[in-house]
Amino acid sequence: MQNQPFEVAFYAPCLADDYDDYFAILEDMGVRYVGTGLSLAKIRDKKALNALKTAADARGLSFIALHSPSGLLWEQGLDYGQQITREVIDAAATLCARSTVWHFRYIHLSKPEEALGGDRVNSMSLKELDRLLEEALPASCEYAKDAGVEINMENLPMFRWSRDSREILECIRKVNLPNLGYIIDSGHSHANGEDPAAMIREAGPLLRDTHLHDNLGTRGFDFSKPGTQADITPARDLHMVPGQGTINWIDLVRALRDIEYPFPVAFEGPRMRGHPDEENIDSWELCMRLTLENWRMFEETANYLPNP
Ligand SMILES: [Zn+2]
Repeated sequence: MQNQPFEVAFYAPCLADDYDDYFAILEDMGVRYVGTGLSLAKIRDKKALNALKTAADARGLSFIALHSPSGLLWEQGLDYGQQITREVIDAAATLCARSTVWHFRYIHLSKPEEALGGDRVNSMSLKELDRLLEEALPASCEYAKDAGVEINMENLPMFRWSRDSREILECIRKVNLPNLGYIIDSGHSHANGEDPAAMIREAGPLLRDTHLHDNLGTRGFDFSKPGTQADITPARDLHMVPGQGTINWIDLVRALRDIEYPFPVAFEGPRMRGHPDEENIDSWELCMRLTLENWRMFEETANYLPNP
C-alpha cells in the first residue's frame, strides 16, 4: 500500500458554461476526481449544480472538494455567516463533495472601501478573529456533519492572519470537532517560508485535503510585516506546475505517505503565470498533463532516492 501511486484530483473551472470541455480533458487523462470553486450565485442555483454533477458523472468524475466563495465570518454577525455557510454546505452535498474549503480567519468586512478584502482583515486582531471563529465553528460543523461534509481551513500566502499553518492546526485541535480539518495549500506554505512536507507531517490525520501547486518561495518577503494582496500577486502565489518552482516535491510525496494520507491529492490550478496563453484551455490542458507527469515522476523518485 505504502508506495501505491496516489489518486489525483484537479480543480476545473466551472463558473462558465464550458465546464464539460475541462471535464473531457480530465476524463481523457484518466483522472477520476475533480474540485471546483463556485460563486455565491452558483451555489444558490440548484439547477446549475445538478447540471454540473450530471456532467461530471457522465465523464466518470466525482467531486471531492468545493472551494467556498465565502469565509466563515461576516461583519453582519454570526447568524448571517451561518446562513451563508449552510448554503455552501448544501451545495457541496448536492455535488457529493466531501470537503469544503475555507480561508482561515477570513472575515468579510466592507471597510476601508478602497482596500481589497484580504487587506481589510489586517485591521482585526488575531485574538478577535480567533474568538469569532471559535464561536462560529461548532454550529457550522454540526450542520456540515449532518450533510456528510467536512469544513477544512486553508492557509493563505503572506497575510499574517493566515500564513502560519501551525496556528490553523492549533485552532483545529482547540475546537476539536470530528469534521473540522486542515487543507494545506503547498504553494502558500512555501511562499510563507514553511516546509510544506513538515507541515503535512505535523498535521497528520488533521490533513483532510490539499491544494498542490508550486512557486519560487518567499522572494524576499519581510515577515515582520502583516502582508498585503500586493505582496501576493503577481510575484509569489504563482500556481506553477510541480517542478517548475522550488518546493521539494519528493519529500512532500514522502510526507503524504508517512501520514498515510487517505484521499486523492488535489492540484489547484497550476497555470503558466504571465504567459499570453495563460487563460486558454489548451494551455490549461498542457499544465494539467505536465502536472500529472511530474507528480508521477516525483512519486517514482521518492521510492528510490536515498534520504539525505
Ligand atoms: Zn488554495
